[in-house]
Amino acid sequence: MSGREHAAPPRNLLLITVDTLRADHLGAYGYGRDTSPCIDALAAQSVLFEDAHASSSWTLPSLASLLTSSYPSAHGCWSDESSLSPAFETLAERLSREGFDTAAFVTHLFLDRRYGLAQGFDLYDQELVAKTRQASHLAVSSPELTRKAVDWLERRRASGSDAPFFLWVHYFDPHSNYQFHEGITEGFATPSPWGNSHTKLDVYDGEISFTDRHIGALLRSLGKARVEDETMVILAADHGEEFGEHGLYGHRRHLHREVVQVPLMIRAPGIPARRIGQRVSMLDVYPTALALLGLEAEEGIQGANLAPVLRGGSLPPRQLLAELRVAKKTWLASICDGPWKLTVDFRTGQRRLYDLEVDPAEQADISVDHPDLVARLTDRLDMLVRDSAAIGHARKPGATVELTTQERARLRDLGYSGED
Ligand SMILES: [Zn+2]
Repeated sequence: MSGREHAAPPRNLLLITVDTLRADHLGAYGYGRDTSPCIDALAAQSVLFEDAHASSSWTLPSLASLLTSSYPSAHGCWSDESSLSPAFETLAERLSREGFDTAAFVTHLFLDRRYGLAQGFDLYDQELVAKTRQASHLAVSSPELTRKAVDWLERRRASGSDAPFFLWVHYFDPHSNYQFHEGITEGFATPSPWGNSHTKLDVYDGEISFTDRHIGALLRSLGKARVEDETMVILAADHGEEFGEHGLYGHRRHLHREVVQVPLMIRAPGIPARRIGQRVSMLDVYPTALALLGLEAEEGIQGANLAPVLRGGSLPPRQLLAELRVAKKTWLASICDGPWKLTVDFRTGQRRLYDLEVDPAEQADISVDHPDLVARLTDRLDMLVRDSAAIGHARKPGATVELTTQERARLRDLGYSGED
């Protein structure tokens, strides 16, 4: 995109989030398979964050964190029945207050407006949530989702609207159960002496490739709608997916790298493409987007403004938190601090320590060798969780989402069990 680096600052924001998308299954993050040519092309024009972390390992808390720049212990979206408190000002609410047209096209059951993430969107199209509710884990939504978002951009252009816009599009297809896409998934087969076969991971890669094509169509539509040069594009994911790295499959069971490390790339007019190795959080998207749009975040958000990093500077070292609470059984938190990652299980008291520099896959727990370090990191983690919880306590909680028997069954089909 010639001339992008000297362009005027962006007026609009297109936020693309992809459910269950591991960073390391994209070409731009070094994956050996050609799963993501369209996302890779976007990455080549973007500032790409090589080490971006979600705040949790499932959809609702992670996206609530992205849209409010607060940790799960602050926004409290812990369970299948949690709803984001109206006391939080979401990115959409803030941009709406600044005169932006705001629209969202969503798919996942946890994005039903009862969960509170619709706050601030003039248009919140959840037609495909209802479809996901019916077809559940068999739902394929990327084509229709893309068409809806493209139609909105077209309608906007035709209306001659002069207001800036914030458009959020959440893709769902890489989520389990992974669907076979004719003409795509065949390309990700695993050869064996008995012929090609498809492992779960192969079909997952096919889902990424399928979704990537539709993301490509959405990105091309910015040009057709004549807004490409004035629109910042941010692509991210809510969480990753595990394929047996720690003995399990899916997500929402722990906080290891394969479920919390996600892609993050920002293509903004006036900002040259580069790769950034510094560890960042999905909470940073909110203040960074505001800064690049010429706005300042209000007090009380927990993410960092990465705009100075995008422009070649650096941030002081900091600790990042991730949290997971499911029903009565799971209550985990982890802290990343320099090379160290400590995970605490609040139910059992168990602590695990990893040296990410020598063990990025988090396979060797070295907590017994470093009791002082474990104690120090535990104190920091406790402090971060306490500070976050205080933010939540200062605001009134969101309403409880009443799920029907059918909705509970659909969530089980998607691999979510309240008893997990
Ligand atoms: Zn998700």
